[in-house]
Order: sequence, then structure tokens, then C-alpha cells
Amino acid sequence: MLYIVGIGPGSPGQLTGRAREALLQSDTIIGNDSYLAQLGRLIEGKEVIRSTMGQEVERAKRSIELSRSQTVSIVSGGDAGIYGMASIVLEVLEHEGGGIPVEVIPGITAANAAASLLGSPLSGDFAAVSLSDLLTPIEVIERRLHSAFSMGTPVVLYNPKSRGRPHNFLLAMEIAGKYRDSGTPVGIVKNAYRDGEEIQVVTLGEIALADGMVDMHTTVIVGGEDSRIWRNGQDVKGIITPRGYHRKYVY
Ligand code: SAH
Repeated sequence: MLYIVGIGPGSPGQLTGRAREALLQSDTIIGNDSYLAQLGRLIEGKEVIRSTMGQEVERAKRSIELSRSQTVSIVSGGDAGIYGMASIVLEVLEHEGGGIPVEVIPGITAANAAASLLGSPLSGDFAAVSLSDLLTPIEVIERRLHSAFSMGTPVVLYNPKSRGRPHNFLLAMEIAGKYRDSGTPVGIVKNAYRDGEEIQVVTLGEIALADGMVDMHTTVIVGGEDSRIWRNGQDVKGIITPRGYHRKYVY
């Protein structure tokens, strides 16, 4: 049996019951080092195979090979089907002729983890774009950014920056500026639901000031045309994107 498990953004409290069950039932757990560290005592006593970033194809092959004779969980941060391991595992399995029972177990993805910490910045339609050009050419990413921002909805940016591509984030903000005014709120969430959690809300006009906070552990939510800063009393707490109740009801 092969479980492809989304383990959520970080803390054990954000791991689903089904994910926990699958991990407990598994003989072997395979994953990236940092994700395995999140699981702590849950995987104690199991065969644990640690892998590093960039070895995803190897990891997928290994998990399939082992799951022919035992129960294996291959883990991904957040949701395994969103910029995660699910597709490559299914592709390799298909290529090898299948024949193993597989269950993909959903996890809380960075978009809704970050959104919750900001209040309700998504609320309805939204778009998500990854700025990583490891598997997608930068020209394609730029085209998608134009399409996403032209929708007028909030846009979630995954993989906003890494050491190898420090400029992608401000490039994306430049594209955002063609479709949004400078007062548009931008939520920046680093290490959601894990050590080092940081949350900041700025406007698109002052985004360059927040550039230093953005790294590969950060998710950025650029507000849509209707999004605004959310205050609780005097304090800026996050972002609200109204769903449209004000058009129908008085409150
Ligand atoms: N499968 C994962 C995404 C992997 S891509 C998921 O569904 O969440 C890696 C990117 O996800 C990071 O660069 C960052 O943008 C985002 N991310 C993942 N976990 C995060 C966390 N705890 N806090 C903030 N961003 C996170």
C-alpha cells in the first residue's frame, strides 16, 4: 500500500486525522528531511528514509518499489497535490504499469494556512502561482502572473524567492502593480504554524520595504480589487476580502 500524505504547514495540530492514521499504519516513511522533522514522535520506531530537495524522482521510485512489499507513506509539506509529490509518484507508478493500491491524503496547503493567519484574504475566487522556475520556464510564470492579476481576485504566491532567484518576487510585484493600485494590501506569512512564524501586512506601494522578509519559507497573498486591511480595534490584523454580502444584506 502506498499513501501519499500531505502533512500540512508544520504543527502537529494542523495534521489531519487521516494523515495521522496513515503514518501510524505505515512500515516506512519517506520524505524530505525538514518535513520528517515536523512529524516528531509520530514516526518513532519506523523505518525512515530521508531525502533532500532535488531528489524527488528518486524518492518517488523508491517509495513505489518499497510499497510492493510493505505499507509506505511518502510525505509532502502542505498538500501533496499542490506543488508537492503526488503527481510525480502517480506518473512514475503509471509508467511502471501500476498495480499498487494508492491513497492520496489531503493536507492543509500554504494558501489556506497563510490565509487563516491573515483573517480572510481569499474568501472566494483566487489564483495561485508559484514563482519557482525550477520546473517551469520564467516566461511561462510571467504570462501566468499577468493572467492571474488580470482576474482581479486575490493571488497567492508560492515559492516567492530562493537564493538562486532573488529577483522573481519583485518582478511579480511589478506585474501586480500593472493591475492593482498601490494601496492594495499584501499579506506576507513566513513559517505558518511552525517555529519562526511571522506575519506582516503591507501595501503594494511599500512592498519593496518588506522584500527582506520574503524567502522560500514564505507565502504571499496579494489582495484583489475588493480586498482591504482588517483592523481589530486599532491594530492591523490582516486582510478582509468581502464575499459580497454587503450587496444583499444590511449589517
Ligand atoms: N505542497 C506545499 C507547497 C510546497 S512549495 C503546500 O501545499 O503547501 C513550497 C512553498 O510553499 C514555499 O516556498 C512557501 O511559499 C509555501 N509554504 C509551505 N509551507 C509553508 C509554511 N508553513 N509557511 C509559509 N509558506 C509555506
